[in-house]
Amino acid sequence: MNDPKYQARRLGELMCEVTQSTLWQPAAAWVKNRVPSSTLVCRVGSGQATYHRFDPQYKQHQITYGLRMIQAKHQPNTASGWLSSREILKRGYFDGELSTLNLLAHTCCHEFAHLLQHSAGQRFRGSVHNRHFYTILDELHENGGANAVREELAERAGQIGMPLPEQTFELPNPSQQRAGWNVGEAVCFDHGLRDFQGEIVRVNRKTCTVHGTGKSRGTRYRVPMQMLRRAT
Ligand SMILES: [Zn+2]
Repeated sequence: MNDPKYQARRLGELMCEVTQSTLWQPAAAWVKNRVPSSTLVCRVGSGQATYHRFDPQYKQHQITYGLRMIQAKHQPNTASGWLSSREILKRGYFDGELSTLNLLAHTCCHEFAHLLQHSAGQRFRGSVHNRHFYTILDELHENGGANAVREELAERAGQIGMPLPEQTFELPNPSQQRAGWNVGEAVCFDHGLRDFQGEIVRVNRKTCTVHGTGKSRGTRYRVPMQMLRRAT
């Protein structure tokens, strides 16, 4: 029971279950509409490799969660190098908080976003993490899908006696950061390839909610404070 490899494997199995129940089930009809009779198989790999691939012969999506990836996301120093950590911090997913629970939940969303990206025909050789991918991933976080994954994962892990740590790894002076921004301030930031301009309507713990102005009118984002610049 205390064997870390056994624990990581059990957590990987939970990630597979939650990917199926919380991400695949609501989307399956849409995916099958694009590629008829496609299916999804999730598995736990023995190394750290974590990926989505599509087998065109069997029309089968395969998502692999690496055992050593799961172990790495339990320690701040080994978790920080992963793309999922950078995404949480830079894009403000889960309020920009790095914890084991958030990282594993986000990993499910990241790989599932590749499945959706592939189904939409927007995965290109040499350009995997492209703007189409991030549009899909942002959407998963904005429409509640990511939170549902997080809750489901936390609940199932608790049920089998392996609660996932929710404690945040490391905070670069959030109160100091927060003090720098005010509601009503004009700001800008880079979003994908475009420059976005807007006005702060809410200051959150680590992000600001920004309503678009000018050419960005009609949009709304939660922007990590480190990405914001003052508009001049
Ligand atoms: Zn990826």
